Amino acid sequence: MKISILGSTGSIGRQAVEVIQKMPGFFEVVSICGGDNVELLKQQIELLNPKNVCVKSESNALLLKKEYPKVNVLFGDEGLVEAASDKTNDRILVSVSGKTGLKPTLAAIENGIDIALANKETLVMAGDIVMQRAKEKNVNILPVDSEHGAIHQCLSNRNEVEKLIITASGGPFRNKTIDDIKNATVEETLHHPRWNMGKKITIDSATLMNKGLEVIEAHHLFNMPYEKIQVVVHPQSIVHSAVEYVDGSVIAQLGFPSMHIPIQYTLTYPHRFEGIETKSFDFIKAGRLDFDAPDLEKFPCLKLAFDAGKTGGTLPVVMNAANEEAVFAFLDKKISLWSVYEITKKMMLSHSVIKKPSLDEIFETDKMVRDAVRNMVLNKQI
Ligand code: MG
Repeated sequence: MKISILGSTGSIGRQAVEVIQKMPGFFEVVSICGGDNVELLKQQIELLNPKNVCVKSESNALLLKKEYPKVNVLFGDEGLVEAASDKTNDRILVSVSGKTGLKPTLAAIENGIDIALANKETLVMAGDIVMQRAKEKNVNILPVDSEHGAIHQCLSNRNEVEKLIITASGGPFRNKTIDDIKNATVEETLHHPRWNMGKKITIDSATLMNKGLEVIEAHHLFNMPYEKIQVVVHPQSIVHSAVEYVDGSVIAQLGFPSMHIPIQYTLTYPHRFEGIETKSFDFIKAGRLDFDAPDLEKFPCLKLAFDAGKTGGTLPVVMNAANEEAVFAFLDKKISLWSVYEITKKMMLSHSVIKKPSLDEIFETDKMVRDAVRNMVLNKQI
């Protein structure tokens, strides 16, 4: 299997490298693309011997080129697209963070390459376009997100599905009051009880915006109306998600929280192999499983996402862009956690929705919203 990893130095990318190492001889790595963590990229070059390497900045590209003259070194957004377009790939893992994922994902689809998708923003921003092109090009979109990976495994006959049940750990503030959430520090918010992830997604998990993005992701991946997608809080994160069929049967996928399993599943699909976490699950150790309804007053971002998804068009683009920029401002300690919700809501309310946006309109909307949020933060208009 010839694969590439876009975002090899991030949390998912590093775990994908561990999965690859665990299966010697199974994968050939065509390209690895990282940000500017050059030291880690060098280690990965030595380990994986890729044909192409892509970094964020030109200066780091020059540095790597000097050290590895035989490797084709690329850089920037164009470099990512070039790496994603290499037809030698059987499958590409898109694990870059935020809106960076959209263009290379589309490039890979145009070249008929299957996608292991760990970047939910791609579908939140342009799910209609991405899924349509994938269908036309006969390209598989295999979801890495543990919930969607679970649903993918539970789906046998799509025509007989009653609803999708997406589980949510509830994040660090599940048992906190609304005032605790309003006054939460960056450190408290980054302390996720179940999953060890990148910073942006960890903040999204604390506000449940991550679950909202996943609802939109599920809508596109599985072509399911929003009325048939239910979010259930499940603090142990053992049931990764489930599918209810029309006869009332529910099929769920279980396991201890680990991203190695869903990553490996998307990289080896349709086959399964012994991996890093094989034999790790134990019902007795798991003990008990709790389920609860999400509290939309404490976590109003989840409702924003349902609203954005149901309206469709450019509204999910606005929500995604506003949320991402606001999360960056929160991480920089410029705004409170609650302002992330307020800014996102404000931007959504003031937007005139374009019903069926082109890709250009999606990128224009994205940029406009990000500029507006940065100005709001700068001028303290929150
Ligand atoms: Mg998830």
